[in-house]
Amino acid sequence: MIIVMKAGATEAEISQMSDHIRELGFTPDVSKGTQQTVIGILEDVTPIRELPWEAMPGVEKVIHIRRPYKLTSREYHPEDSHIQVRNLTFGAKKVVLGAGPCAVEDREQIIQTARAVKQYGASLLRGGAFKPRTSPRSFQGLGEKGLLMLAEAGQEVGLATITEVMSPDQVELVAKYADILQIGARNMQNFSLLQATGASGKTVLLKRGLSATIEEWLLAAEYILMKGNRNVILCERGIRTFETQTRNTLDLSSVAVVKRLSHLPVVVDPSHGTGRRELVLAMSKAAIAVGADGLLIEVHPVPEKALVDGDQSLNFAEFEELSNAVKHVAAAIGREL
Ligand code: PEP
Ligand code: MN
Repeated sequence: MIIVMKAGATEAEISQMSDHIRELGFTPDVSKGTQQTVIGILEDVTPIRELPWEAMPGVEKVIHIRRPYKLTSREYHPEDSHIQVRNLTFGAKKVVLGAGPCAVEDREQIIQTARAVKQYGASLLRGGAFKPRTSPRSFQGLGEKGLLMLAEAGQEVGLATITEVMSPDQVELVAKYADILQIGARNMQNFSLLQATGASGKTVLLKRGLSATIEEWLLAAEYILMKGNRNVILCERGIRTFETQTRNTLDLSSVAVVKRLSHLPVVVDPSHGTGRRELVLAMSKAAIAVGADGLLIEVHPVPEKALVDGDQSLNFAEFEELSNAVKHVAAAIGREL
């Protein structure tokens, strides 16, 4: 249940309402927007549902959220959430361009990539140190050494960083090095990982699972938000379908759907979404046009030699072209890069 306070409600009215909810044995969840404050009660409200809430001072209306996800829902938080990470804001007018290799391979590779992507407009550096590989014999990432290289490259070049965390016991370590914790598609329903990243308080980028419905994806986000961490960014990275021309089917309609259902920012990863370098530019433009708040692009100094995901990685010149194209699309829809 959500109590929407009037635009002009006073601090005293807001705290009086919170006290009242506590006296009834429930927990008020106060969220202050730029216009209005809303107070959520996330427990089962059956015993207090019929109380005369709307007659209380400062109350505009009471909403019962019908969706199974509550904190994630736009009914709960009607305005777009803006998520701040260093000097970046996700969900605002400016689109965030994130780029970097699938995996950190060595110091030279990550630093060279960081410089190039920064030069061409990226503001976020990606690079996996713990890699979820289908085959246990494939390169698994450099682990902590990779985290350190990513952090140093980000620091040296002046880019925020994002990297994947694969298990709850890695959260503390990864949080020490990276600005954003990525939960990979294969882990979208690893509920203990969701809770551990939620408890860390770090910004989390939650990828959509390979076969997850949008509702399952939003419920996964709810696990993180319920730990008190509101800094969650969703990432569409394609789903598995019967189509074989692309590695995954990049479901861009999900961006439009999620924008209606949720207040959280949504970014798109067209690299994993297509699996094919020659399709990344077109799908990046489409992603921005449909309303994505950012892009995550795999870039490698020499994609042909990449240890992971070379087929879908752009070289520096291709990334420059992408950045320029996306800038025009963003401008056409009233946004910027
Ligand atoms: C990645 O970002 O390199 C990755 C493994 O992504 P996903 O979880 O979307 O497959
Ligand atoms: Mn990859």
